[in-house]
Amino acid sequence: MKTIKVSVVTPDGPVYESDVEMVSTKAKTGELGILPGHIPMVAPLQIGAVRLKLEDGKSDMVAVSGGFLEVRPDKVTILAQTAEQSDEIDLDRALQARERAEKRLQEKQQESIDFRRAELALQRAINRINVANKQL
Ligand code: ATP
Repeated sequence: MKTIKVSVVTPDGPVYESDVEMVSTKAKTGELGILPGHIPMVAPLQIGAVRLKLEDGKSDMVAVSGGFLEVRPDKVTILAQTAEQSDEIDLDRALQARERAEKRLQEKQQESIDFRRAELALQRAINRINVANKQL
């Protein structure tokens, strides 16, 4: 089967690079599946998992905290504020981050801006927990 080059890049540098059969992730507009030959496009992403189907039937997973996906004829580039491969995620750290965010959300007298911040922190933590467990 045909493959396409994928790279996941953050401000700290490249996180993932491979030739894959398919890239799937959540764009703001919904689920997105990119196969080789896909038309060029740019799409904003949600906090979520990027699944990368490899030639050997296995798949890799990367947790991203939003960002953009760009499809060019020869390459898919994902540019994200943060990104971690599943086996590089510190599960304890993510579990602690989830607990902190849940506590903040339970506190009633929060300013709404802090509420949104806590919601996003919770989403990032849950995403990392799911990707570390390869549960998506
Ligand atoms: P925390 O409260 O644990 O710092 P966070 O969601 O606020 O979590 P971010 O601001 O999204 O963290 O990320 C800061 C940096 O730490 C990024 O480089 C990100 O890749 C890394 N990072 C965050 N959480 C984890 C984790 N559980 N395992 C590995 N790297 C992580």
